[in-house]
Amino acid sequence: MLSAVRAAFRRGRSFSSVPGPTAGFTEAVGNTPLIYLKHLSERTGSSIYGKAEFQNPGGSVKDRAAVGVVRDAEDRGELKPGGTVVEGTAGNTGIGLAHVCRARGYKCVIFMPNTQSQEKIDLLRMLGAEVHAVPAVAYENPANYNHLARDHAKGLSNAIWTNQFDNTANAQAHYISTGPEIWEQTASSGLDAFICSTGTGGTLAGVGKYLKEKSGGKTQVWLADPPGSVLASYINSGGKLAERSGSSITEGIGQGRITDNLATIVKDLDGAFTVPDEKSIEMVYELLDTEGLYLGASSALNVAAAVELAIRLGKGSKVATVLCDGAYRYQSRLFSKKWLETKGLEGAIPQHLKKYAVL
Ligand code: PMP
Repeated sequence: MLSAVRAAFRRGRSFSSVPGPTAGFTEAVGNTPLIYLKHLSERTGSSIYGKAEFQNPGGSVKDRAAVGVVRDAEDRGELKPGGTVVEGTAGNTGIGLAHVCRARGYKCVIFMPNTQSQEKIDLLRMLGAEVHAVPAVAYENPANYNHLARDHAKGLSNAIWTNQFDNTANAQAHYISTGPEIWEQTASSGLDAFICSTGTGGTLAGVGKYLKEKSGGKTQVWLADPPGSVLASYINSGGKLAERSGSSITEGIGQGRITDNLATIVKDLDGAFTVPDEKSIEMVYELLDTEGLYLGASSALNVAAAVELAIRLGKGSKVATVLCDGAYRYQSRLFSKKWLETKGLEGAIPQHLKKYAVL
């Protein structure tokens, strides 16, 4: 009986490729599975893959950037033993940094907009970070969380501001890890396109650049945007930067400017489009219902975008995206009937999926 269970569990997995122990938290980041999204693929007649970044030890795609910027600062001799890492973040980079700082003996100070979910703020504090949840104001305003983080670091001794938005060690982390992993994981089938949304642009730039280089330009790289972000219109208008207006229920993505990380890929992008919140929230529920995946809204937006792109590219196309983090970080919002109502999104959930809104 037991051996039958084991055999069933092992089916489709090669245990001979499981790596040995890692040297610590930092080394445990990456090497995430690429999940074939079966139901969505069957429905579109294409192959849709999601890179399971929620499986990183800190729970999100941003663990890679956190390790990348800290290692880079150490290598350049800027970050010394016992030092302090200061960052402005929507939360996930902060969570990644808080883990890395605990594991490597640094202090961690986080500035974040107070519009972010309570789960992320609580987790950061539990991880020992000093958290400043500050009013959400535009980047141009000196009180923006990024500028506050920069100024705070300046006032401390033995401290660095990791500056995830414009520090290209972020995109480099994806160029040397996420990109090669996706390339290897799709080597046998090939990949027609990669698409994802961006916050700093690190994931899109690092993965996109690697896949373009390795495929000799054959793999298309697309950007998916939430409402209230200016990037899709910037790309589709040939470089006109609009004023930021509107908002989205997604967290950690959307941007009002071309960050230094995004600038390294923006001219090579094959296209961009916006995904409405109605589609993203519906996909949160659909991924749970059909694929058994409990994911945050940026992952859902990415998958909705991958489905849309697969339809545009035609039957048989192969499209990969990123599953950025789990829904655990947002469940008090995404699965609350009241919250959905306040956002005017209750109607976006099809009747047969409403049973999941249990909070
Ligand atoms: N999804 C979530 C949930 C995030 O927190 C972030 C980063 N803020 C992203 C996606 C976007 O990643 P990147 O910064 O690499 O563009």
